[in-house]
Amino acid sequence: MSEGFGLYLHIPFCKSKCAYCDFYSLCGTEGKTVFLDCLSKELGSEKQYIDGNQLSTIYFGGGTPSLLSANDYKLLFESIGREYDIGRCTEITLEANPDDLSPAYLKSISGLPFNRISIGIQSFSDRELRALGRRHDASQGIEAVVRCREAGLNNISIDLMFGIPEQNELSLQSNIEQTLKIEVPHISVYMLSLEPGSLLYKDWQQGRFTEISDEEAEKHYFLISDQLKQAGYDHYEISNFARPGFRAIHNASYWSGRPYLGLGPSAHSFNGRTRRWNPASLEAYIQGIQNRNLIREEESLDLYTRYNELIMTRLRTSEGFTTDELLFLYGPELYDYCLEQARPLMAGGMLENTDGRIKLAYRAYFVSDSVIRALFWDDGKLDRCK
Ligand code: SF4
Repeated sequence: MSEGFGLYLHIPFCKSKCAYCDFYSLCGTEGKTVFLDCLSKELGSEKQYIDGNQLSTIYFGGGTPSLLSANDYKLLFESIGREYDIGRCTEITLEANPDDLSPAYLKSISGLPFNRISIGIQSFSDRELRALGRRHDASQGIEAVVRCREAGLNNISIDLMFGIPEQNELSLQSNIEQTLKIEVPHISVYMLSLEPGSLLYKDWQQGRFTEISDEEAEKHYFLISDQLKQAGYDHYEISNFARPGFRAIHNASYWSGRPYLGLGPSAHSFNGRTRRWNPASLEAYIQGIQNRNLIREEESLDLYTRYNELIMTRLRTSEGFTTDELLFLYGPELYDYCLEQARPLMAGGMLENTDGRIKLAYRAYFVSDSVIRALFWDDGKLDRCK
């Protein structure tokens, strides 16, 4: 594990809840001081998880991390620096909402170690932003990018969404053009997903809008992807596009099987052998940390689960995985199994095998889930083949 660990810190506060959101977050910042104290304590108590390794990346996600003040971050970085070696950290990301990125806020955090910012822009259409229940408008999204650059933060990522209620091809095209105009080096593109429990899900159930059809969604996905690629972005992961040298290093650890430590409510950790996660409740988190009995759920990853994880994560990347790795990491049984399952998908043009490197064909990017599922280990499939 020489590449080091990623450190993820979950900041569970938002000003208001977006209509589509199912991330763990609370409205308002009540309990912030005690939460930050608990986070510092968890930084200390979980140091052994990384087993003497260095940190390679730090990611403040949420929730809305840009709701924390520069002083909150100063104290958090002091806690991190006390417990961990961050001398070789190459990427330190702050997730931010556009309306928080005032010149004063950016100035206040300019002396802190952040070197990357990920802005939740989602759309450049006021109508679509209202449908998503976002707090900002289109001009605030554009201004946020300009202000980050003025503050010297050039490693900027934005989130862009498609499949938004009432979004049509014309408004999607105008979103793409605006995205290209602001020339950010990294773009994450997500399809709106209707999560049970979200406000949009309720609206959809009550027939207030119709979900985009699969055919339309696929068309929109490739409209975005083709134009970003033509503009020189590297489509290095199903949902992610980067200018050369600007791939997301922290997020890439999730796709490449590198270990990470997640702290704060609902945060997940992975060390290659087990995956564990904190309770998705600020109250349970605070009580657990204060009483030194935080109950985390944990799952051991056996060979077959690890194989499924490789398929699920690496097939999302433009690099895929090699048959040599497959044999080395999982042995002949899973190697044979994988190639057997892959054969019809290759014949159907959904998977490619180039010199022993297996990856998704570009045309399969939108339907990656079904290709990935087809390669998953399922001992029932063996019986059915016999
Ligand atoms: S800002 Fe992000 S985490 Fe907060 S409610 Fe909106 S989508 Fe969810």
